[in-house]
Amino acid sequence: MLDAGRLQATVPPWIDAVTEVVDRYSQTSATLAADFYDGEREAAGVPGSFTVPVADPPPDEQVDASLRWATKDLWPRSESDATVAQLEPLDVRIEAAMTKADGVVDRLVLNAGRETVLQAVRQDPQAVAWARGAALGCCSFCALMASRGATYRTAGTAGRDANARFEGDTGEAKFHNWCRCVVIPVYRGQVFELSPHAAEWDQLYKDHAQGHPGAQLSLFRRAFREHQQARGRPIA
Ligand SMILES: [Zn+2]
Repeated sequence: MLDAGRLQATVPPWIDAVTEVVDRYSQTSATLAADFYDGEREAAGVPGSFTVPVADPPPDEQVDASLRWATKDLWPRSESDATVAQLEPLDVRIEAAMTKADGVVDRLVLNAGRETVLQAVRQDPQAVAWARGAALGCCSFCALMASRGATYRTAGTAGRDANARFEGDTGEAKFHNWCRCVVIPVYRGQVFELSPHAAEWDQLYKDHAQGHPGAQLSLFRRAFREHQQARGRPIA
């Protein structure tokens, strides 16, 4: 649908079409997440029933802004204000824009599922916390977030302890493009335990980053990279 020679005419309908795709698959993602939440709740033997509120697809303005970001290097620029990426040949810029757009769609769709679980944790009287589950090939940011363990809904001792790990934290519920992290609910009476790899990352944090306010993420990133390389794991 995108015609690079007719961007003015073809970008808006392309955005509308991709918004439809995001909308449809966000509903699927949210429904699957609600099923996952029900299954986890049942497996944990939680008493009583709870209806999971299914998250809405992202607002059209958010999809629009993200897709405009993905395609911004396609527009013609004068050589004097163009960035290096904007001076690439058109086919290279189209390829880069499509990769970015894929990442945007991926994030927005998966976020509808993550938001469904987060909302359920906030509203279910039997849920007390959530934790981030990261894949083995994740980036250092996600590894650090996953190593924090459970984030408690109310500021109990456990919550304060967990929150101290990331000062001024707004990152705990942030998910980047291509992020494979999931939200794991924790119910009343359950004790959340880190997965074996998240426990390794927690140890890395304690050994290399803890107690260095302001430099925690960069110190952790370096230690994480070396750790992953030593184990032959991919680094995001
Ligand atoms: Zn992630």
